[in-house]
Amino acid sequence: MAHIPHFIGGEKVEAAERTQPVYNPATGEQQHELGIASVETVEQAIAAAKAALPAWRKTSLTKRADVFFNLRQLLKQRTNDLAAIVTSEHGKVLADAAGEVARGLENVEFAAGLMNLLKGERDEQVSTGIDVHSIKQPVGVVAAITPFNFPIMVPLWMIASAIACGNTVVLKPSERDPSASIFIADLFREAGLPDGVLNVVNGDKTAVDTLLDAPDVKAVSFVGSTPIAKYIYERAAANGKRVQALGGAKNHMLVMPDADLKVTADAAVSAAYGAAGERCMAISVLVAVGDEVADRVIPEIVSRIKDLKIGDGAAEGTDMGPLITPEAKARVESYVAGAEAEGATIVVDGRDFTYEGDGFFTGATLLDHVKTHSKVYRDEIFGPVLAVVRVNTYEEGLQLINDHQFGNGTAIFTRDGGVARQFEFDVEAGMVGVNVPIPVPVGAFSFGGWKDSLFGDTHIYGPESINFYTRSKVVTTRWPNPEQSKIDLGFPSNS
Ligand code: NAD
Repeated sequence: MAHIPHFIGGEKVEAAERTQPVYNPATGEQQHELGIASVETVEQAIAAAKAALPAWRKTSLTKRADVFFNLRQLLKQRTNDLAAIVTSEHGKVLADAAGEVARGLENVEFAAGLMNLLKGERDEQVSTGIDVHSIKQPVGVVAAITPFNFPIMVPLWMIASAIACGNTVVLKPSERDPSASIFIADLFREAGLPDGVLNVVNGDKTAVDTLLDAPDVKAVSFVGSTPIAKYIYERAAANGKRVQALGGAKNHMLVMPDADLKVTADAAVSAAYGAAGERCMAISVLVAVGDEVADRVIPEIVSRIKDLKIGDGAAEGTDMGPLITPEAKARVESYVAGAEAEGATIVVDGRDFTYEGDGFFTGATLLDHVKTHSKVYRDEIFGPVLAVVRVNTYEEGLQLINDHQFGNGTAIFTRDGGVARQFEFDVEAGMVGVNVPIPVPVGAFSFGGWKDSLFGDTHIYGPESINFYTRSKVVTTRWPNPEQSKIDLGFPSNS
């Protein structure tokens, strides 16, 4: 069984500390042993990042960009290797894991354009003989703390822009599926990134708290569940750091009476059950406007669920893999178990799914007549459970979405452009799809939710990340003629 090391200063570090198993969720077997970092190991990684900072800051933009062009090539060449690692530790199917690499690549491609992204502004002659220009400089050592559900894409959301901007990074990936992060660190090194610019420490709360409290860490990017996101935001901000902390979600899909039935059912099944619902942009609530919509779309969804092939994500033809842990499976199934008592109807019960072996599997669940006061509606379940809520009007559906504590993504399904435009205007969520169930913005835009889905004011990756990972400086210049120079005790004003 392999021991998964840390990656510090360009070296694999096998620190003698606590260990934790890493499982293959499809078989239930332990496949690796993970070293859980002590405070000292995290401090070693921060020190390595700090030591690498001056040289990386000075590295020309052309050379920095080269690293990203090389990395892009390597990621493309090694996509299948990376996908296999993700599938073996996360459980999602291989095609989905490869899709994750492709979406992460967008962040690398964006970062490769760093010369344009880091351009400052300049105004000539703001006052007589005076020019002003602005520059963007790195913030310093950045901590990146990531969840289990996208072990390649979410680290790349953070580290690509952070490194492009001239920062150095300590990445703390999820302890459930950490191998992809070490693989990415190796690829960055192969792409020409100097040692110490990207460091990876594996660990738990001890590692995270050490990063949050370290004076040398200047900015923290976090993606994970809402209670932890709030904690990270508060603790890092109290320590004077910049923070962006993205949290959980409960994404609603509003289905209007004129929506195409086939398109809607295909989208609902793909977005609710893909990656076994372990996506922050998964659709977990279908809001049907009118009983007729619900009565027509539910049989379509049921027939598609029956065709889903659930099994080992590494096997050909599998549509849906297992959940990440036995605890996650138990948690998801307990929501299903409580649904009827809360007033819902179980149309398809994922607990009925049986699997030979010890994998952490549950089947796809479909609930109807879900009540908005119920736990199954209010909480993020993070599993393959789709709740149908019936409303009478667009306004009622909209209100329900806007009243929910989460505001990550949402979607409207309609053929009426006017209604779609109104929804875009009215809805309180950070990412909106029009006939697109999972509207994850392409890498040239930024990603982020509203309400309890994001703590902080900066969305992640894309243009907003350049602001997050840089400090701006404004320089006012004049080249006066010494012969015309005189003292002036007045406050400088423009003339
Ligand atoms: P999690 O919050 O349990 O863990 C995220 C990270 O925080 C991990 O690195 C973990 O080690 C660390 N952590 C966990 N408990 C901690 C504690 N008490 N103190 C300090 N650090 C701690 O999340 P998860 O289960 O890995 O991921 C699933 C969650 O992430 C879901 O809620 C999902 O919606 C969310 N998510 C959100 C987005 C988004 O963009 N908004 C994207 C992906 C996942």
